Amino acid sequence: MSPPRWLFWHRRDLRLADNLGLAAAAATTRAVTGVVVLDPAELAAMHQAPARRWFLAESLHELAGRWQAAGSRLLILQGDPVLLLPRLAAASGAAVVAWNRGVEPAERERDRRVAAALQGDGVKVLVDWDQLLVPPETIFTGAGDPYRVYGPFLRNWRGQVERRAAAGELDPRPAPRELLDLDPASLPRPELWAALPLRAAVPTAAQLAAIAKGGGEADGVGTVALHHSEASGEDHPSTRRPQANGALRSEASGTRPPEPGPESTAGLAQAPFTGADLCPCRPGEAAALAQLEAFADGPALARYDEGRNLPGEAGTSALSAALRFGTLSPRQAWAAAAVARFAARSDEALASITVWEQELCWREFYQQALFHFPELADGPYRPQWRHFPWENNPQRLAAWQEGLTGMPIVDAAMRQLVESGWMHNRPRMIVASYLVKDLICDWRLGERFFMEHLVDGDLAANNGGWQWSASSGMDPKPLRIFNPATQAAKFDPEATYIRTWLPELAHVATADLISGRIGALERRGYPEAIVDHKLQQARFKAMHAALPRG
Ligand SMILES: Cc1cc2nc3c(=O)[nH]c(=O)nc-3n(C[C@H](O)[C@H](O)[C@H](O)COP(=O)(O)OP(=O)(O)OC[C@H]3O[C@@H](n4cnc5c(N)ncnc54)[C@H](O)[C@@H]3O)c2cc1C
Repeated sequence: MSPPRWLFWHRRDLRLADNLGLAAAAATTRAVTGVVVLDPAELAAMHQAPARRWFLAESLHELAGRWQAAGSRLLILQGDPVLLLPRLAAASGAAVVAWNRGVEPAERERDRRVAAALQGDGVKVLVDWDQLLVPPETIFTGAGDPYRVYGPFLRNWRGQVERRAAAGELDPRPAPRELLDLDPASLPRPELWAALPLRAAVPTAAQLAAIAKGGGEADGVGTVALHHSEASGEDHPSTRRPQANGALRSEASGTRPPEPGPESTAGLAQAPFTGADLCPCRPGEAAALAQLEAFADGPALARYDEGRNLPGEAGTSALSAALRFGTLSPRQAWAAAAVARFAARSDEALASITVWEQELCWREFYQQALFHFPELADGPYRPQWRHFPWENNPQRLAAWQEGLTGMPIVDAAMRQLVESGWMHNRPRMIVASYLVKDLICDWRLGERFFMEHLVDGDLAANNGGWQWSASSGMDPKPLRIFNPATQAAKFDPEATYIRTWLPELAHVATADLISGRIGALERRGYPEAIVDHKLQQARFKAMHAALPRG
């Protein structure tokens, strides 16, 4: 008699190695089948970021091959998981469906509904944490509350991680091997199987865009997703040009659009991603591990403390998309840092490794915050910010989006975002402060624009980063205003980053690129600064001072 079949539902864990939910399934039975459900609503809620569709499609392609190499298969369904997973379980005779948990409010609500539907049919559900080193239900203040402040969270988090690592609990698990495949021809209810909306092939990024738009019918019945076609050359073009502005879209997975607010990007639902060769984040499990190794074993991690602030250098890991989509696990990242610590030859290197681990902790801090305070997704954490009289000037917002504010460090960063799908952390903070405190635009407009473009766009990290920059979040520092010229002078002193992303200004003197004071003849069409930083700073402070306290 064949063993009971388990289904493993991949979501933000697109890998076989060190996947805790999958490892638990494979430890119980060899009869495990992988499942991905392409939900049009969820794909649309991803803000149609072309870069994320590209990363997802490429990563799924590799994942399907890995399932096959492990002896089983990856099924790709298209539709609502609440309806489809019970149907698949019935059709395949599955006894258990397993998956790894998430923190986003909409995701948790959907998972509750999926679990209830399966259990109603008598199918067991097995869920646990995988994407965090310290799950949010295991880390609280001494008073038993969730953390609102990063510093004390970090101390507790590090203590827990170090204890668990010493006990071997964080050692990365190997990928399952020698699994038992299912045979669609010998299933007990072939008519149920035949009616499933299974895709014959892993979708391309263009097909994911069509699914998000409500089109892109499933293209096969009962077949295994094993091949992948490169459609319309959209995955590897080499052009570098800014994309046009378009309309804001609402995000079903959390954040509401600010009301009222100027329109932003349009046409992204169908837009192909043209920045694959410029994006430093590489899709797929193999590329994530190679990237991790190159970062941790090479010079970057050992001098991260300094290099992480220099956007003109490749001083960070660029693993954010891999961690976002789960082509890499946080345990793999932690283990690589531990090996580097063992091999470190200087105090500077040791300090740098510690700082990188603290960045991994920021990721977890924002996830535990969203888990315990789901209202973060809907607006400012600090209530008085709901009354802020945002100006939301549409021309200024458009200039920020297009990289045409006349402040070179800001424009370089926005061009990097739109062209490559990624932006270095330092300029993320600079452009966020500039949008909110210089242009006096609602931070949720920036949050949304980031989600529409970022390859690593993630509700918890993005919302956390924007609320930190806007001063509307949990961070205790009341008002943080960045002077973009001072930031450029400090972190891009040779204007390397500015010249990379604003090649039309390559001829301009470094000091002028940093200050933004560029002579009329040298501009060659590049705009003058649309606002005066000092003036706007004073205006913003006055508006902030007039807010109700609390
Ligand atoms: C306004 C704003 C918006 C942001 N939006 C996102 C987002 O949508 N998705 C996202 O992953 N990060 C976001 N960040 C955080 C940070 O900018 C990126 O994680 C980082 O730039 C990714 O580059 P890296 O992989 O080279 O990071 P590294 O410096 O190598 O850090 C390692 C990992 O730690 C995590 N990390 C680092 N810094 C942060 C941080 N401040 N907050 C949360 N996690 C962090 C990331 O997973 C990152 O890959 C945002 C920051 C700001 C200021």
